[in-house]
Amino acid sequence: MKALVKYGMKPGEVELREVEKPAAGPDDVIMRVKSVGVCGSDIEFWQNRITFPVNIPVTLGHEFAGIVEEVGENVTEYQVGDRVVSETAAYICGTCEMCRKGMYNLCAKRLGYGNGTNGAFAKYCKCPTRVLHRLPENVSFDQASMTEPACVAYNAVLVKSHPMAGEAVAVIGPGPIGLFAIQMARIAGAYPIFALGTDVDEARMETAKEVGANITINVMKEDYNAIIKKYTNGNGAALVIDAAGNTPAVKTAMEIVKPGGQITKIAWGAKPLGISLDPIIQKAVTLQGSFSHTWSTWEAVLQLISAGTLRMEPMISHSFDLDDWLEAFETVDRKIAVKAVIHP
Ligand SMILES: [Zn+2]
Ligand SMILES: [Zn+2]
Repeated sequence: MKALVKYGMKPGEVELREVEKPAAGPDDVIMRVKSVGVCGSDIEFWQNRITFPVNIPVTLGHEFAGIVEEVGENVTEYQVGDRVVSETAAYICGTCEMCRKGMYNLCAKRLGYGNGTNGAFAKYCKCPTRVLHRLPENVSFDQASMTEPACVAYNAVLVKSHPMAGEAVAVIGPGPIGLFAIQMARIAGAYPIFALGTDVDEARMETAKEVGANITINVMKEDYNAIIKKYTNGNGAALVIDAAGNTPAVKTAMEIVKPGGQITKIAWGAKPLGISLDPIIQKAVTLQGSFSHTWSTWEAVLQLISAGTLRMEPMISHSFDLDDWLEAFETVDRKIAVKAVIHP
C-alpha cells in the first residue's frame, strides 16, 4: 500500500512510498483509513522543526477515522464494518504508575501514531482495540478525524483548567487547537472570549468569531492589554490558553491574565523563553502544561460532536487525496487552511 513516510531528519525528507499492509495481532484491528487530519506537528515532521521524538522511517498521520477491515483472533467487541476513530497512543506499557492511574497519555514508554510508530497517512492502519471508539451514527469520518485536536482542547480547557461561566477566557493562537479551545470556553459559558492572533491569522480570526470568540485581537496592530482590561473591569482574563507556544505568547499570557488566574500551555516552544517569569509570582497565577488526552476525553468529545455542540463544519476547510499530500501540507503550512483532511 502507499504510505506517506518520513525517512530522514533533514527538512523535506518525507515521501510517498510503497510499504507492506500491516498485519493484525490477536488484540488488534486493521482500520481502512477514510479520513486523516493534517496536524501542525505533521508540518514540523516534514520540515524537521521537531519538538518531540520521532522514530524514522515512520508513516505520518495521527488524527484518523475509518472502518474496521479485519479483526485479530481475540477481538470480540468490534466487527468488520464498524465505524471507528482511533486515539493516538498506539503503544503504552500498561504497567507503570501513569498507565495504572489511567494517565497513559503520560506513560514514559508511550509511542504515538505518526512519530513513535506507523500512522495513518496510508490506506490501512493497525490499532489495538484499546485505542478505538465507536462513531455515533451522525458523525462523519471527516468530523471524527478531528476528534484528536478537539480532545487536546477539551483536556486543556475543561479538565486541567477551570473556566467559570461569565468569566473571561483568552486564547492565544487561533490554529485548529486554539479554535477548539475557543469552542470549549464557549461550552463552559465563559464571557467574553478573546482570540489573539497576528497578521498571518486573519482568515482564522473569522473562523474564531464563527465558533465562539466575542472579541478578536491582532496583537501586532492593537493594544491587546488595554482591550482585554477594558472588557474585564481592569482585571484581565481568568484563564489564558497558550496555543501559540513561543516567548511572545508566554509574555502576553502573563500580561493579560487576572491576578489569581490560570495560564494553561498547550503549545510547544522549542526555544528557551529568555524572559522572567516573575509576573506569575506577583499575580499568584497558576501556570501549567496540558498534554494529549485519555479515553474518557474521547467519549465526551464524540458526544459533543454528535450533539452539534462542538461545531465541526467551520473547522474543515480543505480536503485532498493522499497523492496530493504536498499541496495539503503547504496549504496548512501557509495557514491558508483552518484544517485540511486527507482521504487515503
Ligand atoms: Zn495532531
Ligand atoms: Zn506506562
